[in-house]
Amino acid sequence: MGRLIPTAKGLAWFRKGHPWIFRNDLAKIQDAAPGSIVSLEEKNGKFLAQGFYSEHSKIAFRLVSRSQERIHLNFWKERVERAFHYREAVVEKTNAYRLIYGESDGIPSLIVDRYADHFVLQTLSQATEDLLDLFTKILLELFRPSSILLRNDLSVRELEGLPQEKKIIMGECPSRVQVFEGTIQYLVDLWKGQKTGAYLDQRENRAAASRFLRGRVLDAFCYHGLFALHAARHAAQVTGVDSSQEAIEQARENALLNGLANTEFRKENVFSFLKAEAEAGRHYDGIILDPPAFAKSKENVGGASRGYKELNLRAIRLLNPGGILVTSSCSYNLSESRFLEILRECERDLGATLKIIEKRGQSADHPILLSFPESHYLKCLFLEKIH
Ligand code: SAH
Repeated sequence: MGRLIPTAKGLAWFRKGHPWIFRNDLAKIQDAAPGSIVSLEEKNGKFLAQGFYSEHSKIAFRLVSRSQERIHLNFWKERVERAFHYREAVVEKTNAYRLIYGESDGIPSLIVDRYADHFVLQTLSQATEDLLDLFTKILLELFRPSSILLRNDLSVRELEGLPQEKKIIMGECPSRVQVFEGTIQYLVDLWKGQKTGAYLDQRENRAAASRFLRGRVLDAFCYHGLFALHAARHAAQVTGVDSSQEAIEQARENALLNGLANTEFRKENVFSFLKAEAEAGRHYDGIILDPPAFAKSKENVGGASRGYKELNLRAIRLLNPGGILVTSSCSYNLSESRFLEILRECERDLGATLKIIEKRGQSADHPILLSFPESHYLKCLFLEKIH
């Protein structure tokens, strides 16, 4: 087995509990094969942990176990079973959820999303890439899936020296899979949809938001219309806006599937749409803002903050008194406190008063590791415009 020895800084970082060690923080790399399990040791040879070694990535080590146990098929099978038992406890009223969320389930750099009996996998490091056959075997044994699709069309794989690809690993994956979320049915395209087909991380927020949304509601950045459809159960009229034609068509199909005639979906840029609505003097009783990550790196947090501010400012302006704002940021690089600060700036600029109804995050099937801030990326705030 290969050995890694961290520098003093790397060791201090690891002792704080973070599950990664960066290449710069390694003093010695000995016989470590790309994608293999290596042992992390102190200078004097004292064992610290076992983990995945990546040859190309800045993230050289990913923690798998703090003991010297043998890591084989049964070890991984038990981790998958534990991940599943946790989902059985926290996932409710849906058959579409994240079964394995990498580090947070003790299986670094592996994502498994489940849409009814169809599974979608992403292997995000050399090690999980090499273990693909083993994880396929475990999933077959535990869940007897109808199909397993590999959605490795992610740019982060390039950091690992891995190609982008999509391929079916077993079974037949239909072009559309119908799943449900609460009382809403929806169709997912596992081959072509964004992420692995749907934004499962917002699932609980969609159900929770619908408790507060009434009257005229706007779902901005609606994708396949799921916030809109949940809201349409109680609201009078819901408009969904997205710049993707494919997303709008799918949202309309989902509305038909649920017989929700009080919805309309429009292909437009949200920024120009909000501007035009203000110019036309229109108002809303509820607005959902779920933009893509504006802050893709630490360097562009400034620009991203301006984007979030403009968006929220325009939305709050359109709200009637008593209106509800459901506003999200999925940028890991923008902290919750910075996001709240941006909303306070909007409040001050508009002379408005906002009440926090709920501070929320990603759904429980995307659990957060206590000492791995990267696992907590989604912020979702429910606010009421008092006046
Ligand atoms: N709310 C959705 C997920 C939204 S993801 C859900 O719960 O499922 C973000 C969406 O924003 C994507 O569908 C993308 O097509 C869209 N988008 C990105 N930039 C946009 C823009 N400037 N105007 C409108 N839509 C945009």
